[in-house]
Amino acid sequence: MAPADRTGGDETGTVDAGALGRRSFLRLTGAAGASLLFSAAAGAPSTQALTGVAGQASVARKRRAYVLVVDGARPDELGTALTPHLRALRDAGRNFPAARSLPVMETIPNHVMMMTGVRPDRSGVPANAVYDRSEQTIRDLDRPSDLRFPTVIERLNRKGFTTGTVLSKEYLFGIFGTRATYRWEPAPIVPVSGHAPDAFTMDAALSMVEELDPNLVFVNLGDCDRMGHSDLTGTTLQAARTAALVDVDTQVGRFVDMLKTSGRWRDSVVIVLADHSMDWSDPHQIISLQPALDADPMLAGNVVVAQNGGADLLSWTGPADRRAPALRRMRDIALATDGVLSVHEPAQLRLGDNAGDLVVYCRSGWRFSDPAPYSNPIPGNHGHPATQPIPFFVSGGHRLVRQGTSSAAARTVDVAPTVGTLFGLGDPRGGYDGTSRL
Ligand SMILES: [Zn+2]
Repeated sequence: MAPADRTGGDETGTVDAGALGRRSFLRLTGAAGASLLFSAAAGAPSTQALTGVAGQASVARKRRAYVLVVDGARPDELGTALTPHLRALRDAGRNFPAARSLPVMETIPNHVMMMTGVRPDRSGVPANAVYDRSEQTIRDLDRPSDLRFPTVIERLNRKGFTTGTVLSKEYLFGIFGTRATYRWEPAPIVPVSGHAPDAFTMDAALSMVEELDPNLVFVNLGDCDRMGHSDLTGTTLQAARTAALVDVDTQVGRFVDMLKTSGRWRDSVVIVLADHSMDWSDPHQIISLQPALDADPMLAGNVVVAQNGGADLLSWTGPADRRAPALRRMRDIALATDGVLSVHEPAQLRLGDNAGDLVVYCRSGWRFSDPAPYSNPIPGNHGHPATQPIPFFVSGGHRLVRQGTSSAAARTVDVAPTVGTLFGLGDPRGGYDGTSRL
């Protein structure tokens, strides 16, 4: 994995310069010979750690943390005979079988919780899709400005450490933007799914570690989630999911091998977790609240539903003086609908103002499809309480890594404090909402 065709020099970003700011580009060659494009903060070191050739344990001692997110994995899926590398990694560290994703159990908010250590009422990111009142539209929270709390990435950079993001999904690359010292720009992107396959993502992670060697690397592996979502046939769903699990295990195995053969393992903390779990709905168990709300004379035309698979976020857009009775009616209609589990005010779930006026969860085996019954055709969904259990373990060769099993209910929000402990970061303003698991 030799560096090739380095095109370092600073330049002003030509793509959305306002959001990306000054950056430089690095082109490296991955294991399969493919060209990998990274962007880097202006002035970031681009030629460090070039001694990291596989087989030579000659890298400098330093603190290293790697967060590997197996997107959408269930805790029972990692650590079986199908996933021997993940099982070995888990058994080398501390496992948290009671671990949980946090509301809303979606990809963007839980990745933000991992990197900030705070809940959505402080981060500004409660769900994947929300109703944006100022723009009067439903949109993904995929802009760098949507994330309103300092991440551990920026906080490490300020202390002189270097960081990297290798995020397979376009919207994750979007929201984390140019925060990290080095960012992989995901490619190739699978049409419709909007993510890069795990083999490419891992090529990028390996290149980033071996050639740029950031102190912290944050990796999202998207195949398990996308295989869970995108296959519609049912009979092949299990086979596709199994294939994705076997493949992600192979990819994680490549990463651990690299850490060991390059001499980095003894300095490394490797956190493996999922952002949420996955639940599969029966074809006839679909909930569409928008038509039911629009059929009510009091509510018609004044409720917007931001659908998040297993959770619907309802926003009242009518006159403020009719809001209180309208919310009561919205709650009653939702609770009277087959498949609805519960209705919550956003504050109960610590979601903040962006989550709208009411959050509706579905039962296990159901999904929301809004605004229309055909809007969400995919059987695999998450966002509801059935998808809270996640795999979570803290491994690696660092002396702070403990072994065994903990009964503590680790959560996605615990990742930032865990990373912070390794690097001696103080608490952010207002403190963390999570707990260090080192
Ligand atoms: Zn996800």
